[in-house]
Amino acid sequence: MNYARFLTAVSAARRPSPIRILTELQQRSPPSLISLAGGAPNPNTFPFLSASIKVSGGEVLVLDEPLMKRALQYSGSYGIPELLSWMKDLQKSLHNPPPASYSPERGQMEMCVTTGSQEGLCKIFEMLVSSGDNVLLDAPTYSGTLAALQPLGCNLINVASDHHGMIPADLGKILGRWDPADAQKPGSSVPRVLYTIPNGGNPTGASMTYERKQEVYELARKYDFLIIEDDPYYFLQFQKPWAPTFLSMDVDGRVLRMDSFSKILSSGLRIGFVTGPKPLVDRVVLHIQASTMHTSTFTQLMVSQLLHNWGPGGFLKHIDGVIDFYRSQRNTMLCSADKWLKDVAEWHPPMAGMFLWIKLKGIKDTQQLIMKKALEKEVLLVPGGVFNINSSDPCPYVRAAFSLSTPQQIDEAFRRLADLIKEAM
Ligand code: PLP
Ligand code: PMP
Repeated sequence: MNYARFLTAVSAARRPSPIRILTELQQRSPPSLISLAGGAPNPNTFPFLSASIKVSGGEVLVLDEPLMKRALQYSGSYGIPELLSWMKDLQKSLHNPPPASYSPERGQMEMCVTTGSQEGLCKIFEMLVSSGDNVLLDAPTYSGTLAALQPLGCNLINVASDHHGMIPADLGKILGRWDPADAQKPGSSVPRVLYTIPNGGNPTGASMTYERKQEVYELARKYDFLIIEDDPYYFLQFQKPWAPTFLSMDVDGRVLRMDSFSKILSSGLRIGFVTGPKPLVDRVVLHIQASTMHTSTFTQLMVSQLLHNWGPGGFLKHIDGVIDFYRSQRNTMLCSADKWLKDVAEWHPPMAGMFLWIKLKGIKDTQQLIMKKALEKEVLLVPGGVFNINSSDPCPYVRAAFSLSTPQQIDEAFRRLADLIKEAM
């Protein structure tokens, strides 16, 4: 892999922070070294002294005074070592990436902690996408992705998808416009980046089959592009075994995978992870050095303590509980949809995530319906258009989340929605 050809001018121009290099040097020196080099403030002046945090199951996390001093201080830009090593072990056990992806010539696998996967996403796009580039994705897609991508001035190419995600045959047809032999040529317009949400897609709820992933990966090899696997709903797959990921089949080192703790530990703590070839993850980290410096040390220590107490088994047990909740919510929503919406709408049961993507019959565009009339009826959904590349294109869909409302609320909401559609039909 020639990673240099994927980098934007901005990313290629990033240089390591000289102060961060000195900090590394200091960490490797004997304690007798007197360093006047560090720019860190003295934590004895900080007002927070210690913390104890109750965890479900009766456990208590204690950050005593020494640990709290660490939690309040600057830390490395990849993430704190104990959280990183825990996550690296988890990634290996869940995805078991092919050995080739660990080899130096393919760009050894690397990971970094990000302040939510949105940060990783935004920084990865800034690293890889220049104005005028062709970028492949399957819209409708997460509006946060569009918010990060569209200002870069790239040309978004929409690959057709259905309830099993991106359709490889359509991707093949689109790529057929180009000669794979041109991919490596400077200035070539062959797409260098494909973005997809492989499980419980936001907003469609779609999950990609293993076979489709294999076909997409083969096309990535043929046309030499990178795959950005944005998978925040990976841990919310309702059925086991979980589908193999792009990371798990990445023999070349062309997959950048984003994981998120937002749906399983906390969305407000802001913790995500980027996993991928070291030359690329290193570039993301240079950007982190120049922006947030690192994800909150306090947050990382709190999460890391919990994960070390739990071990991988305890973590997966917690996930099972989360899945049970969302599966039951999904079932509730499907029941209410059958009850109220059968004649006025269509949908596919999502196999992961927290969204039902509903196509309203006889309605060309849901924007007006939701923004004006839905509020009168006291029911709110997201009009599907906001997930389209061109948000003003008419869209007959709405996105309903089953994450937060009670079964009674979901049922009443769909009763109101059915009324609304019937009035508008
Ligand atoms: N990617 C997708 C597909 C999402 O749906 C979301 C959140 O809604 C994110 C990324 C952002 O996740 P995080 O909270 O980890 O930044
Ligand atoms: N600006 C200046 C001039 C600084 O000295 C520092 C910290 N060394 C920063 C910004 C970064 O501060 P923060 O830790 O709040 O990101």
